[in-house]
Amino acid sequence: MKKIHVRDREFTVSIPEAAIMQRVTQVAEQINNDLKDENPLFLAVLNGSFMFAADLLRGISIPCEISFVRMASYEGTSSTGKVKDLLGLNEDISGRSIVVVEDIIDSGLTMKHLLQTLQQKGPKQVKVASLLVKPGNLKVDLDISYCCFEIPNDFIVGYGLDYDGYGRNLRDIYTVVAG
Ligand code: 5GP
Ligand code: MG
Repeated sequence: MKKIHVRDREFTVSIPEAAIMQRVTQVAEQINNDLKDENPLFLAVLNGSFMFAADLLRGISIPCEISFVRMASYEGTSSTGKVKDLLGLNEDISGRSIVVVEDIIDSGLTMKHLLQTLQQKGPKQVKVASLLVKPGNLKVDLDISYCCFEIPNDFIVGYGLDYDGYGRNLRDIYTVVAG
């Protein structure tokens, strides 16, 4: 099994490039069918989703737009704890069909918060497309319309996802080797 190092950790391939491409193409086709008359606006959540968003959108053949947003975390007051803000949304989304494009849903808290923020802006509908979901870690109820792969709770890198800033450029998805 091919092993690589990213920073101080060892990783092994868990989803090879060809499998990713095949599944991303399938999901794009599903979206083409589901949203063909909707003129959707894709909102790709940076940084992690940049590679998934690029490949997904190349499979989208219906009229659509894409924009890039970011969830910025900062420490709030002790009563509010961690606050997450949505940055970079310049489009008016009222009445529009939105597809949020995310790299990975772990606890689901980030997505839950993002969806609540978007709902306040009066969209027609908000769909979620996530490359990866860790069902074993989900702490909130989420309606995930499009998921490419469900994975175990292990830490992964590659295909946009990082370990300490590194590994985003890898073409395959890798799982950390324990130890
Ligand atoms: P959540 O709010 O769903 O717990 O957090 C989602 C975020 O956690 C993702 O956008 C990502 O930044 C990070 N994350 C969760 N699991 C992993 C993982 O296995 N690898 C990497 N690189 N990031 C992860
Ligand atoms: Mg992310």
